[in-house]
Amino acid sequence: MTYETTFDSFNSMTQDLDRLLRIPSVSSEDPASAGKALDFMLSLGQEMGFVTKKVGPDCGHIEFGEGEELAAVLCHVDVVPAGNGWSTEPFALTEKNGRYYGRGVVDDKGPAMAALYALKALKDSGVIPRRRLRLIIGASEEIGMHDMETYFASEEMPCAAFTPDSDYGICVAEKGILQIEVSSPYNDATLLTEFCAGRAINAVPDKAYALVDCTETEDNQLRRYADAKPGQYDFLYTMDGLRIDASGKAAHASTPEAGLNAATHLIRILAANFGQIVLGSLCSFLDDAIGLETDGSALGISCSDKPSGALTVNVGRVEINDNICKAFLDVRYPVTADSSEIVNRIRERASYDGLRARVINHELPLFMEENAPVIALLRKAYQTVCGEPPALYATGGGTYARTLQNRGVAFGPAFPDDEVHIHDADESISVEHFRLHTAICTEALRLMAEAESLS
Ligand SMILES: [Zn+2]
Repeated sequence: MTYETTFDSFNSMTQDLDRLLRIPSVSSEDPASAGKALDFMLSLGQEMGFVTKKVGPDCGHIEFGEGEELAAVLCHVDVVPAGNGWSTEPFALTEKNGRYYGRGVVDDKGPAMAALYALKALKDSGVIPRRRLRLIIGASEEIGMHDMETYFASEEMPCAAFTPDSDYGICVAEKGILQIEVSSPYNDATLLTEFCAGRAINAVPDKAYALVDCTETEDNQLRRYADAKPGQYDFLYTMDGLRIDASGKAAHASTPEAGLNAATHLIRILAANFGQIVLGSLCSFLDDAIGLETDGSALGISCSDKPSGALTVNVGRVEINDNICKAFLDVRYPVTADSSEIVNRIRERASYDGLRARVINHELPLFMEENAPVIALLRKAYQTVCGEPPALYATGGGTYARTLQNRGVAFGPAFPDDEVHIHDADESISVEHFRLHTAICTEALRLMAEAESLS
């Protein structure tokens, strides 16, 4: 069976994908809209003759077949905001120069629609599954994955699953994620009256500003110094003092080395010119214990392992003013590292500067053995469609696979040689790759339906 013939309804799939993309389901701004995208999928599933269930306002499933066991594919239909700089309408499907464009076309509405049509293709071709197959759909993935917490609080855990919400081939290791708030009860800086950077902890801030109370000589010195440093710095006199606006480069917190952290660079420039003491204990900590490094070496937590690579640290948000003095760190640690040791080390180092460190979010790492049955199954599906075995890889990113308690992994939809721009302007995938992904997903579900044993 070649992938062109795995189903004959590619056109109706893309039409339905267009309808799904037109629902602006930005969960961080409009949860009701994200819920509508979920409802749309469930009603499509129902029209196709599947059993559907809405489990909570932001989660539900579409089920095919009968049997004791359950296998699943997990997708999300919420998206991040469109942002600026699109060359097409973000909330619609546009085909242009051999690519499909639209917010969510890769992450993750396209794969959700492909999975639904894969189930339909199996049903239409008369496959009688040996077990139940579920498309599990969430609508709060982009805002912390509480959707799957709700879902699995009442629904059974599948014995094997995959989530097409990353790259090909198979993601066998996802680093642990620790998000930590470091705070001081008050701003003890004598020079710095305000500092602000970042909105999301899981992103490298590309903008930061500081308000300082300094003399003209100090100001001139600061400008000369900043001119020679990475990033861009703008100076402005205001009623409240000198305002310095720093611009860096945004990146995801799982790859902080790919960005330029506007916050840590600005702190470094201020510290080099004025000394750390006048910047207060929080900035001293950020400059000394983290600095411009993203590997945690100054904190004494850098480490690395073979399955998942090196630890990373990102300073995602800093907020200092009259009332607040805190920063948020995002640490991605290797699967074999000891998270409590990392937390203790950060706590100790923060308390040395009189600061308090508190874990506000902890997602455990995921690691699957290469010979696990679900890995063998996905390998086979990929090989059948692509004619070559998939690569196994690790990521610092997080997917629904973490919620599966080592029963599933991330698998597709993006191919390594395709720049898909997820969470960015012009999110897109080549038509060829989208067809290929749909074929692989269909093949994986067919194997899940027909395999004698999945555990
Ligand atoms: Zn996603």
